[in-house]
Amino acid sequence: MIISMEENVSTRVIESVVDRVKSMGFSYQLNVGTERVVIAVLGGDTHKTDVQVFQVLPGVAEVQRIQKQYKLSSIGFKKEKTIINVGKGIKIGGSEKVLIAGPCSIESEDQIMQCARIAKKVGVQMLRGGAFKPRTSPYSFQGLGKKGLEMLNKAGQEYDLAVTTEVVAIEDIEMVAQYVDVLQIGARNMQNYELLRAVSKINKPVILKRGLSAGIEDEWLPAADYILNGGKAEVILCERGIKTFEKSTRYTLDVSSIAVVKENSHLPIIVDPSHAAGHFKYVPYLSRAAISAGADGLIMEIHPAPWRALSDGAQSLTFSDFQRLISEIK
Ligand code: PEP
Ligand code: MN
Repeated sequence: MIISMEENVSTRVIESVVDRVKSMGFSYQLNVGTERVVIAVLGGDTHKTDVQVFQVLPGVAEVQRIQKQYKLSSIGFKKEKTIINVGKGIKIGGSEKVLIAGPCSIESEDQIMQCARIAKKVGVQMLRGGAFKPRTSPYSFQGLGKKGLEMLNKAGQEYDLAVTTEVVAIEDIEMVAQYVDVLQIGARNMQNYELLRAVSKINKPVILKRGLSAGIEDEWLPAADYILNGGKAEVILCERGIKTFEKSTRYTLDVSSIAVVKENSHLPIIVDPSHAAGHFKYVPYLSRAAISAGADGLIMEIHPAPWRALSDGAQSLTFSDFQRLISEIK
């Protein structure tokens, strides 16, 4: 249930509505917008409560029942687009597109430093790199772990880039958060609800990748609500392609999801053309499509020598292809 207050009501009036919400055993979150305050009433049984209970209270303009599985990430809760401040002057969701690039996995200090150097040179704002890799096969390279995080952090500092990496285990979250500006939840963990609940307690933005076969409104946005529900972390959605019958590409980039998210959510959405394509030669096409469709940014895989990469080499751009793509996008 969403309670929209009248414009310019006093804090005391808002508090008395909040008190009523709490007295009925619900939790809540406030969205203090430029014109009005909106209160999301959260809890399992809101559907059994009559909207009149809140509608009659002083200062209440409108009470809407939300039939959807997501509330906090919905446009009903917050009409203004969310702009996430990552630090180092980087804002995701604003008028400027954010560009994120780096290797699939951090493999050595030299490799991540080279990636950071080219990223900085072409004007990318953030560096990515996996230290804990959720690999399909247990026999594939699993990442350098904490050592990788140290390298990533060092490269970010050296080249003044914000950094992001994936976290795969609850017990690693606090440690990983110390090394990066933004946490990443991978596609395979989008429905790992305990992991989502655990990152929701961390005061860091989270890139939430879309699950390999997750519906936008029935699974992905509710997963974002798990993170927003903790009241601390902010969410950046990331479309990375979904499974379809098409075999020419690794996944199918669902460009429509940008439109659906923009119409139904206030959250920023970026696109990962690399995992969607699975092959470097398709990455520029998908990048241009994403930007044209209104994505707030891109996250791309690059490697100094993709043919030697320990993971996702086929979809990683060489530095010269990367430079060309960035200038086209700009
Ligand atoms: C990655 O970013 O390297 C990755 C594993 O992505 P995804 O979770 O989208 O497969
Ligand atoms: Mn990868």
